[in-house]
Amino acid sequence: MVSRAVRPVALMVIAIAATVGLSAPLTPNNAADAAGDGFDVGNWTDPTGKQHRIRWNPCQPAVTFAVNPRQAGKTTAARSAAVADVKAAFHRVSNRTGITFSFTGRTTEIPRNSSNDSWSSRQKAAEIVVSWVNQSRPKYRSNLLTDSGSGYGSGVGGWMMRAWTDADGKWQAAIGRGFVVLNAGHNNIYQPGFGKGTTRGALLLHEIGHAVGLGHVGTTREIMYPTMLSREYSRYKDGDRTGLKRVGRPLGCIAGASDAWPQI
Ligand SMILES: [Zn+2]
Repeated sequence: MVSRAVRPVALMVIAIAATVGLSAPLTPNNAADAAGDGFDVGNWTDPTGKQHRIRWNPCQPAVTFAVNPRQAGKTTAARSAAVADVKAAFHRVSNRTGITFSFTGRTTEIPRNSSNDSWSSRQKAAEIVVSWVNQSRPKYRSNLLTDSGSGYGSGVGGWMMRAWTDADGKWQAAIGRGFVVLNAGHNNIYQPGFGKGTTRGALLLHEIGHAVGLGHVGTTREIMYPTMLSREYSRYKDGDRTGLKRVGRPLGCIAGASDAWPQI
């Protein structure tokens, strides 16, 4: 039965952020990891008990992203290389999720919460903002990157999801904003690019993975392992790829997402 009555839209906002550090404790994980799948995706249970994969609407024309590279390097060339790495990382995420990402340009925005507003309602430059931050300089600081007690992590990535009821009273949910914040104090630890070693490319793949809905896994070979390791290649591994697929295009469109989340 299809109800024609217009129902008030119920809107819920759910936010999560996941951090990565050089020595972050391993996060205990779920059955999927125990089974060796090597990925972690999230579900949200609506008030009727139905589960919804926590993900972006893969059918929106593009998920936009902007980059603030001001603290990414000391020279113009170093900052440009950082922007290029962000673009390359999104290209890889697109290949694995089937979601189109579109670069809107550089920004001076830094994702952070204010005393009144969530980062997600403050974000104007793009749907996902990637910014390097300097926690020792108030102007370039972000309160999204927290000190776990042993120092600030290398980065943090997260998303904001909204859930609503459609005209038939069915619940829908979609991520509509995301962020990646990277610690400029760790710039010297990460080699530019996606090559061998401990790389900025791997860090970006990890944090953007969070921004599209992936969680941590317990298998060291995956990029979503919560500690950055020196690697032979900086790329998504089998488990990561499976996870990206399961937050991506194969799950289909989310009706009404463009109304719940005005595109930036
Ligand atoms: Zn992480």
